[in-house]
Parts: sequence; structure tokens; C-alpha cells
Amino acid sequence: MLSNIRIVLVQTYHPGNIGATARAMKTMGLSDLVLVNPRCFPDPEASRLAAGAEDLIDQARVVGSLAEAVNDCVQVVGASARLRSLPLPHFDEPTDMARDIVDQGADDPVALVFGRERFGLTNDEIRCCSHQVSIPANPDYGILNLSQAVQVLAHEVFTAWRRRPDSDFRLARPSQDRQPPREQLGHFHDHLTRVMQRSGFITQPHARTEAQLQALFARARPSRKELSLLRGLLASLEQHLPDDRLPDEQLTDDRLSDE
Ligand code: SAH
Repeated sequence: MLSNIRIVLVQTYHPGNIGATARAMKTMGLSDLVLVNPRCFPDPEASRLAAGAEDLIDQARVVGSLAEAVNDCVQVVGASARLRSLPLPHFDEPTDMARDIVDQGADDPVALVFGRERFGLTNDEIRCCSHQVSIPANPDYGILNLSQAVQVLAHEVFTAWRRRPDSDFRLARPSQDRQPPREQLGHFHDHLTRVMQRSGFITQPHARTEAQLQALFARARPSRKELSLLRGLLASLEQHLPDDRLPDEQLTDDRLSDE
């Protein structure tokens, strides 16, 4: 049940919050917990606050970066109390986010990402996400405790799962119509950047242009088939671009081909 829906905690400071998160998850039928560089884990305080959800703590995976935690996911939603300047699509209503994530999670892994107690998620980490969500709260005091934020969103997910339409009759989506994992989308963006640089559209790395294009494709949500079409298009454009290798490398190649 809900096994494709992953909860990711980034660099959690208090182990008790990891335990309370496990408990919050288990009450809502979630079980896949991934910890990115926790300060202190395993820890007795985590097990104490898990209170019957120690199995989730025991199975939790620890990884070294957010990208590693979500590479296989087709949708990655970052939970953030504040709106950032990054132009990622934003769910204003957790209910809409939950419906969407339950729908995508029927076929592929998806993730909900939570930041550090002290300063949330960095801009680079938000860039790893496809969407953001905020829990509407008191404008004068709207930041929830980490595990309570997990509880609220996990409850939304469970509710959306209970109310999902025609669950018994739903056919699996054909693979090509599904969304690509983040890793594939990352390769596409690297390819796009390479072509933009080699064509002279940008002359040096340009984070803002790249962030805007990432947001554009996050909104467009290309399927796997559409993404491979775009990769093919870039590859064929690339063939008509001037070679950008260093003269030395070309020389070596020429020599090799003479032999
Ligand atoms: N001081 C941090 C907030 C940390 S709270 C900051 O200013 O960003 C820890 C985490 O709980 C946040 O990174 C976020 O993932 C989640 N969280 C807390 N309140 C939230 C809210 N109102 N909406 C969405 N996520 C929230």
C-alpha cells in the first residue's frame, strides 16, 4: 500500500524528529523513509519517538545527497513554508499535491522532501525537485515542526489514496506515456545546456536561464516518449554545430585516423 511514495528528510538535526516522522508515516500507511546526511542516526531517541514504528527506522536508507535519494522518482515535491524566488510549479493546496502524487505513484516512485529544522532546503536542493508545496498556516506563525509537517502531508496523501477514482479498474499506464525519472530529466537538461553553449546561445554557464528552462519542463511534464523525442532533436542539432573540442584533442584524433 502506497509503497511508491517516499518521504525524504534532508540533514535532520534532531534524531527525535526522525522517530516522530516514522510514526507519522506509519499511521498513514507510508513506509519508505530515506535520510540524506542525518546528523545523528541511528540513535536511541529516534527509536524512542518512533513508538511502534521502529520497523520504518530499521529499514530507512541513509544517502549522501538529495539527488541520490530521488534519482529514480518521476515526481519530487519539496515541502517549504516559504515561497522562494525559484520558478518551480507550486501546489498552493496540499490536497491537489496529494491527488497528483498518488496518481503518479500508482506506476512509479515519487517523493516528498522535507528540509532541515533550522533553515529548510537550499536553493540547489529545491532545484532537485519538480514541484513545491506549502501547508497553508497562520501568516504570523506558519512554520510547523518537521515531523508535524510530515504528518499533515502524509494525511493528505492517505486521504487522496482512499478517495482515488476507480482504483480497482485502473490499468497500468504504458511505459512511454509515463513521466521520466529525475535522473533522465537531468541528462536532458545537461544535454540542453551543452547545446546552448556550443551554439553560442549562452557563452558561459547561466544558472538563471537553466533554472527557467527547468521550470518550463517541470510545468510541461514531458512523457518518456516526448523526452526521447527532445533528446533526438538535440542530438541532431548537435551534429551541425562547430566542434568545440580543444585543438590538441582534434590533433590527436587526426593523428589516430591517419594511422
Ligand atoms: N526554519 C526553516 C523551516 C524548517 S521546518 C525555514 O525557515 O525554512 C522543517 C521543514 O518542515 C521545512 O523544511 C519544510 O520541509 C517543513 N515545513 C514546516 N512548515 C511547513 C509549511 N508550513 N509548509 C510546508 N512545509 C513545512
